[in-house]
Amino acid sequence: MNLPDDPQVEPAGAFAGTPDGLDRLWTPHRMVYIGGQDKPADDAPGDGCPFCRIPTLDDEQGLVVRRGDVAFVVMNLYPYNSGHLLVCPYRHVADYTDLTDDEVAEVAALTRTAMRVVRDVMAPDGFNLGMNQGQVAGAGIQAHLHQHVVPRWGGDANFLPIVARTRALPALLGDTRAALAAAWPATEGTTDPC
Ligand SMILES: [Zn+2]
Repeated sequence: MNLPDDPQVEPAGAFAGTPDGLDRLWTPHRMVYIGGQDKPADDAPGDGCPFCRIPTLDDEQGLVVRRGDVAFVVMNLYPYNSGHLLVCPYRHVADYTDLTDDEVAEVAALTRTAMRVVRDVMAPDGFNLGMNQGQVAGAGIQAHLHQHVVPRWGGDANFLPIVARTRALPALLGDTRAALAAAWPATEGTTDPC
């Protein structure tokens, strides 16, 4: 494995996602390991919340695919599958009923466009969409709402998660982010008319 002499290691807390106890086996030959668990210490907004911090980073750094007016799309650092996206309001709100009408509309529009873009780029056979509301329901970062968009392929749920608590991810997050961002239509998926 060839690594640069001074590889830049970003803290996992700078990215989106919910640690879930599974290890990830990143399978491309250019393998990068990102270590460390990344749960906010509390439910407060700001730098302690990855979904508040990510929009302050540039797209490559934060793995941001698309920025809307009131919501954004980001790669999940702990993907269940390649192309696993999260759609989040910029506002630090926990519950779906806390969203404004504009946020509901844009989260929905970004989710719809995310499906189209992932279909174009990665040709999945299906999707899982959803939000976990509350820790008991599986929300790892419960204080900041995020909608999962998980592409599915036939046979993707192989033996690895069961026997090894590991998922095999055949594409790197940065590469996938770049491909999805490039394929995202210029205007579609946001409420911004221009
Ligand atoms: Zn937040």
